[in-house]
Amino acid sequence: QYRARSAYKLIEIDDKYKLFKKGQCVVDCGAAPGAWTQVAVQRTQVDTSQGEGEVCVVAVDLLPIQPVKGAITIAPADFTHPSTITRIQDALSNRAVSVVLSDMSPTLSGIKELDHENGMMLAIAARDFALTHSALGAHFLCKIFQGGTENKFLESLKEFYEHVRYVKPNSSRSESREIYVLARRMKKRI
Ligand code: SAM
Repeated sequence: QYRARSAYKLIEIDDKYKLFKKGQCVVDCGAAPGAWTQVAVQRTQVDTSQGEGEVCVVAVDLLPIQPVKGAITIAPADFTHPSTITRIQDALSNRAVSVVLSDMSPTLSGIKELDHENGMMLAIAARDFALTHSALGAHFLCKIFQGGTENKFLESLKEFYEHVRYVKPNSSRSESREIYVLARRMKKRI
């Protein structure tokens, strides 16, 4: 049913922390092949008597994404490029974002320091988008590759969100250096 097993990581996190609410807008950064997007659509879609209701999920990736029913896909597009941010804003047409997801991964080199640094650049881009586009009460979930500066990144979120913590879903391979930062309930915007 899902395009990738990564879906189960998001399902596990959402089952525990309840990030999604029906009718809310989600931006999914680094979305290809689209498994998280599928989960976000399922969990925010308003149920109507006609079946499928309105969805507000915007999915972005450097790689092409096969259309996901209900979602707006912006791909191929580099999330770190300002023109991509403009395209996301156009897709949202002034609707506030309630969840920003980033599962973005750099091309991994196997060199720990380099992968950490490249991953943090993507995480910072996602964080800066979340801080400037989210509604109060919104949540931010972001993948990082451990390697030194992640605590500073986590700390930087505490001013803006009520609850900030690391999460490592069971379905994330235990040996991998990837971990997620989860920031819940935005209390202050930039
Ligand atoms: N969450 C996805 C899913 O469940 O299907 C899997 C995402 S995959 C682990 C990481 C993605 O990040 C890759 O598809 C990669 O192309 C994307 N990515 C890396 N750098 C990016 C960038 N600068 N802008 C947009 N996407 C990027």
